[in-house]
Amino acid sequence: MTAAAVPTSASQAQRVEELGQIILAYSEVTDRLQISHDELKTKVIQLQTELGEKNRELERRNRLAALGEMAAGLAHEIRNPLGGIQLYASLLAQDVADRPDSVNTVRKIVSGVKRLEALVSQVLNFSREIRADLEECDMAELIRDAVDVAQAKAQAHGVSVTLHAPASMMRTADGRLLTQAALNLTLNAIEAGGEHVDVTLTEEAGRMSLIIEDDGPGIPADLLDRIFNPFFTTKDDGTGLGLSIVHRIVEAHGGAISATNRPQGGARFELRI
Ligand code: ADP
Repeated sequence: MTAAAVPTSASQAQRVEELGQIILAYSEVTDRLQISHDELKTKVIQLQTELGEKNRELERRNRLAALGEMAAGLAHEIRNPLGGIQLYASLLAQDVADRPDSVNTVRKIVSGVKRLEALVSQVLNFSREIRADLEECDMAELIRDAVDVAQAKAQAHGVSVTLHAPASMMRTADGRLLTQAALNLTLNAIEAGGEHVDVTLTEEAGRMSLIIEDDGPGIPADLLDRIFNPFFTTKDDGTGLGLSIVHRIVEAHGGAISATNRPQGGARFELRI
């Protein structure tokens, strides 16, 4: 063995240092790979979630379109005979004018027909396409109007409604549709069975937010997914169309609506546009 072949302690130390550097570089590469792998995994999960949401949305739209068509067909079929029943009931009312019991029965028929007519109009309204006619409007004023309209019902239910809104909030929107959405949500909150409803209108980073909260029993967890479906109702006299119309109004503005339960109890609806 020559002297040159024998490793000196200096060259040994150099090798150890080189090995150390290689291991360090390797571990840096592994760390970077791990980070990109984690980032990719997060991205894939995010894309999968987005795709799932879009698919669910598409399914929902298709279901709604089919349901809307069927409901409109049915409503038209019901409307004609209803007109006939109303006419015959008014003729009958004249014939039995001298018999109070019969007059009372005819009155019940007429009031039943009126309720059916109102339902048919709502169904036809619901099945029509909702298109937002955008114009400059003062959302604060429109929401104030909606809350004012709801006050009569609030008083009848012993519920107080408080509005938190700026003096004015100019937005490009369909004021009539958004007033209807705010009114539907406020009336539901009043009917929920609590004592107080808060309606809050704010604007942040160009997005408008309308929050309607009540202190009623809240929405049972297993129903949260279904409340926006047309004809879904838990009320004896409900049509189940209110929230589905609100959903479509928000959609027509490219916005979003969410329903949650407040930690302290009661329901919270937030509409963002
Ligand atoms: P309707 O009022 O005719 O029942 P909606 O579409 O407005 O139709 O509401 C659907 C259902 O959503 C209601 O029947 C009720 O079960 C539930 N819901 C809506 N708003 C509230 C609320 N603020 N608190 C609890 N449940 C609610």
